[in-house]
Amino acid sequence: MYPSAFEYFSPESVEDAIELLEKYSGDAKVLAGGQSLIPIMKLRLASFPYLIDITRIEGLRYIKESGNGLSMGSLVNTGELTESELVKRHLPILAETASQIADLQVRNMGTVGGNIVHGDPGNDLPATMMALDARFIIAGRGATRKVSASDFFVDSYQTAIEQNEILTHIEIPYPAAPWGGAYVKYKRRSGDFSLAAVACVVGIDGSGSILSAKIGLTSVAPAPMRCRDAENYLKGRKLGDTESEAAEEIIGAAADKIAASVDPPSDNYATSDFKRTILRIIAAEAIEKAYLRARGV
Ligand SMILES: Cc1cc2nc3c(=O)[nH]c(=O)nc-3n(C[C@H](O)[C@H](O)[C@H](O)COP(=O)(O)OP(=O)(O)OC[C@H]3O[C@@H](n4cnc5c(N)ncnc54)[C@H](O)[C@@H]3O)c2cc1C
Repeated sequence: MYPSAFEYFSPESVEDAIELLEKYSGDAKVLAGGQSLIPIMKLRLASFPYLIDITRIEGLRYIKESGNGLSMGSLVNTGELTESELVKRHLPILAETASQIADLQVRNMGTVGGNIVHGDPGNDLPATMMALDARFIIAGRGATRKVSASDFFVDSYQTAIEQNEILTHIEIPYPAAPWGGAYVKYKRRSGDFSLAAVACVVGIDGSGSILSAKIGLTSVAPAPMRCRDAENYLKGRKLGDTESEAAEEIIGAAADKIAASVDPPSDNYATSDFKRTILRIIAAEAIEKAYLRARGV
């Protein structure tokens, strides 16, 4: 199916893009990789008379070290996250997450900014961005503001970004070492969106006690979410040998809290109970993997 007719603009600066968004306010939409927006328009689930293609804007396609973390432009495509040496070395959970998005073609077109701003609860990057305490830099008319990933996702397809704003950069601080992270995704077929997925980042001390735990969830609520209950429970606990009975109990209790924190609706693919059961299993896997990685095992 063809989308309904639209006028197309491809500004070369953020300022020009914002000017166009303001000029056609309410009728204009930002176009980045087009991997979510174009299918929606082709299916006529939505139509926008004006598309503002931001992909010709210079300076939004980089990944670099900045202070004690990585910063990147919103036009970096999700495939680049799987290839970047900086990402693989410093934030491997981000490469692990991106590698599980759709397929190579989609990853090479879809952008990090689009994956975040689209607000699809099934998109994979948001949960990991939350677990990593990422901050999003948003440009509006004459001003920029910073929003933390944990405050950004409001509801299904609804984020903190305003109509005439553009997500330009993402800053991700390095967690305090030693730390480890894991993204575990359960999907029905290769390349699918998840039925449930869990991002977990844990920081430990020299004795193996958990100093901090950050947990983000995908596909199990109207918006990607943190699970503070499990995070607080894990803080201060020492897992030691993860195969011990005590460690299994701790990980199991944290996974129970994660499963209890959501009430995903049944749909054509799975019942609510099944989704919760899967979530519990992959949550335990994500916590154990993150912890073992923090210990360098
Ligand atoms: C077959 C298929 C399978 C997929 N599977 C997965 C999957 O398993 N996991 C997953 O995470 N994703 C999946 N996706 C989605 C994909 O990752 C998209 O690329 C991503 O959701 C949107 O990125 P985009 O750059 O294509 O954005 P677009 O489609 O161009 O835009 C999406 C939305 O974000 C807005 N937007 C984009 N960039 C900005 C910006 N910088 N500032 C402000 N607004 C902006 C647009 O206005 C639009 O509302 C899949 C897509 C397809 C087609």
